[in-house]
Amino acid sequence: MYYESTRGEAPRVTAAAAIVQGIAPDGGLYVPAEFPAVALPEIAAFPGLSYQERAARIITPFLENFTPAEIRACIGAAYNTRKFAHPAIAPLKSLGDGSYILELWHGPTYAFKDMALQLMPHLLVLSRRKTGNAAESVILVATSGDTGKAALEGFRDVPGTRIIVFFPAEGVSEMQKRQMVTQEGNNTYVVGVAGNFDDAQSGVKEIFTDPEMRARLKAAGFEFSSANSINWGRLLPQIVYYFSAYADLLAIGGVKSGEPVNFVVPTGNFGNILAGFYARLMGLPVKRLVLAANANNVLTDFVRTGIYDRRRPFYKTISPSMDILISSNLERLLYALTGRDAAAVRNWMGELKERGVYRVPEAVAAQVREIFWSDWADDATALATIKETFRRYGYLLDPHTAVAVAVYARYRATTEDGTPSIILSTASPFKFNRDVACAVIGEEAAARHDEFALLEILARETGWPVPEGLRTLAGKPVRHRRVVQREEMKKVVAEILGI
Ligand SMILES: *Cc1c(COP(=O)(O)O)cnc(C)c1O
Repeated sequence: MYYESTRGEAPRVTAAAAIVQGIAPDGGLYVPAEFPAVALPEIAAFPGLSYQERAARIITPFLENFTPAEIRACIGAAYNTRKFAHPAIAPLKSLGDGSYILELWHGPTYAFKDMALQLMPHLLVLSRRKTGNAAESVILVATSGDTGKAALEGFRDVPGTRIIVFFPAEGVSEMQKRQMVTQEGNNTYVVGVAGNFDDAQSGVKEIFTDPEMRARLKAAGFEFSSANSINWGRLLPQIVYYFSAYADLLAIGGVKSGEPVNFVVPTGNFGNILAGFYARLMGLPVKRLVLAANANNVLTDFVRTGIYDRRRPFYKTISPSMDILISSNLERLLYALTGRDAAAVRNWMGELKERGVYRVPEAVAAQVREIFWSDWADDATALATIKETFRRYGYLLDPHTAVAVAVYARYRATTEDGTPSIILSTASPFKFNRDVACAVIGEEAAARHDEFALLEILARETGWPVPEGLRTLAGKPVRHRRVVQREEMKKVVAEILGI
């Protein structure tokens, strides 16, 4: 199976090349030339398979030239009980009244990014070998929090790779910072940047595209690579859990084979929900994809109007991983809905870059409205939802998932659609313990405790164990102390690599 660029001005490539390159040379995103169908009787047999077997079945047709043994080895290295705290990897929990929670946060960093970033490094190493590229991969990441830690855990001690993560020294939560500066592994480097996320991100982009830097790297046997969510290697693993959740729902009698479900997805860069759209294309019975946004509601407006307009204020919210105004992966949806009209996609992306806004024709907007439904929830609503869901069901939500639960309640009330619905839970509530504790025990009570005491309090309230990797953070030695100015980022990369 070949991959083509959404902008239509780059040659088709193999899966391995798409994963190695990350982004196409014409600035577009790689998409498979076709989507393999999974027939209903086969989906009906999924409940008898493990998560690992389901994963192998879904991803194999997308990875031509990868042998079954190679794919099994990658999956085995990614999804196992040393890495994931739950044997089902992505378990489904019933909330009652026909709604379900799909927990995607049992991986090493307690957020859904692990579902992709545990597998992707293994796919990248194999892809490099298959494309005849012997260089060692240097993964450069700028992070606002979750991605950096998930990428560090995914790449740690993976042979043939080194990972360098830049984070804004004053721009991440205390828990997130501790998670990163205590990172273990013999190929991991974490550097604070004096500045905000944009400083870190623009610094990384400059290093990536600096010809002199690239030449020096090449001479030393290295090559830059990226682990961000436009890489096909990060999207592909996410299709799996949509099928897996449907299988688990079949197993508990929540649906009969072939009956449709809705998925509700807390959305930022449009990667997670796009995987759901692809699952639907492949034959999974999905009625609606409910797109839940926070105050940065650019996608809600797009779903309702067909106008994407990023010219609006940026809000810092308690669901920071959804604080995003340019949702890169939407480009892939537009490509699919226009019947692969690369010229149209190129135009819209050009308008977005130059004017900050574009509008799709009514025929496309109507398709978007048929498949998607969207609303957004502010911080106060998310906190109230955490409190109310805990009171009613004894189930604790993190702020991102709370946005989804709040939006789903509005979907239900507005449309009166009683189709069984699966809400994707993207982070452990323990990871966002301060805001979650405020919702559960009150702001004043929460203010009296430090981060680690709050973990114990939440554990007492829920009867859930404190995630091991968060509890032990208090005693872990700091291994990464570098903090640099924005202008020194290039120098520090050269120093780390010894070039
Ligand atoms: C990244 C992230 C999201 C948003 O996912 P996208 O694929 O960017 O839409 C939502 N919740 C959490 C906790 C995340 O880390």
